[in-house]
Amino acid sequence: MRRRKTAIFFLVLGICLCILAVVLNIGWILLNLTEVALLVLGIVFFALIITGLILNTIFLFREIRRSEQHDAFLNAVTHELKTPIASIKLYLDTLKTREVSPEKREEFYDVMLADSDRLLRTVEQVLVAGRAGEKKRQLNVSEVNIGSVLSEAVGIVRSRYHLNDDVIRMTEPAGDLKILGDVDELRTVFINLLDNAVKYSGADPRILVRAKRATLNKKVDVFIRDNGIGIPAGELKRIFKRFYRVANKSSKDTKGTGLGLAIVRSIVEKHGGKIRADSKGEERGSTFIVHLPLV
Ligand code: ADP
Repeated sequence: MRRRKTAIFFLVLGICLCILAVVLNIGWILLNLTEVALLVLGIVFFALIITGLILNTIFLFREIRRSEQHDAFLNAVTHELKTPIASIKLYLDTLKTREVSPEKREEFYDVMLADSDRLLRTVEQVLVAGRAGEKKRQLNVSEVNIGSVLSEAVGIVRSRYHLNDDVIRMTEPAGDLKILGDVDELRTVFINLLDNAVKYSGADPRILVRAKRATLNKKVDVFIRDNGIGIPAGELKRIFKRFYRVANKSSKDTKGTGLGLAIVRSIVEKHGGKIRADSKGEERGSTFIVHLPLV
C-alpha cells in the first residue's frame, strides 16, 4: 500500500514537472520570439528535458512494478516451501507421539510423500529458472518424437493429480512428428503447460492435447486447451515474464511462483520455436500453442 502511494506520488511529480516545463517553455518562446537562434536552442533543450523526464518516469514506474513482483514471488516461494514442511512436521510429530493404526500410518506416509514431491518441485523450478538465463547452457540434443513426449507428460500430470483418463484427452498425431531437441527439457515444457491447465481449471478440468504438422512449413503446432479461468486479453503476453502472475481473484486463489511459463518460453526459444497463449477472456478457457521446427 505504501509503495503504491510512493508510485503515485512520483508519477504525479513526473507529470507536474512535464507541465511546468511546457508552461515555462511557451512563456519563454513568447518573450523571445525575435531571437531565432536562442529559440531553436531553447526548443532543443526543452525536447531533451522532456524526453529525460518521460524516460525517468517510465523507468521509475517499471522498477516499482518489478519490485512488487519480486515481493509477491518471495511470498509465494516462502509459502510453497513452508506449507509442505509444516505439514510433514505435523505428521511426523503425530507418528512419534501417538499410537497410530497401520492404515492411518500408510495414509500419513502418502501425504508426506506428496508434500515432499511438492517441495522438490518448487525447489527444482527455482533452480531451473536460475539456469534458464544462461544462454550457453548445453542442450542434450537428439531426435525426439513429439507424440511420445506428450504422452509421457500427460501420464505424469495425470498421476500427479490422480486424474481420470478423460480429464486430459490427447489426440494421437497423424504420422511421426520428430524434432531435434532435449527430451527432458521438452517434457518439462509440456508438464508445466498441462500442470497449469489443471491448476487454473477449477473443479472440473477438461483438457485437450493435440499436435499437428503446420501446413506450409516444416513445423509442428502443439495445442493444449483447457476450460478454465481464462486469461484477460491484456495479460496474454505478460504471463510469460518471470515472476508474473495475473492479479485477478481466480489466479490468486491458486498457489504458484510465476516461474513456470518463463521457463517454458526459454526452453521453447532455445529449440528455435515460439509459444503463445490464446483465450476468449476470463472464465472462457485458455489455449497454449507451441510452435516447434521439425527435423
Ligand atoms: P504460476 O502458475 O506458478 O503462477 P506460471 O508462469 O506457470 O506461474 O503462470 C503465470 C500466470 O499465468 C499464472 O499465475 C496464471 O495467472 C496464468 N496462467 C498460466 N496458465 C494458465 C491457464 N492454463 N489458464 C489461466 N491462466 C493461466
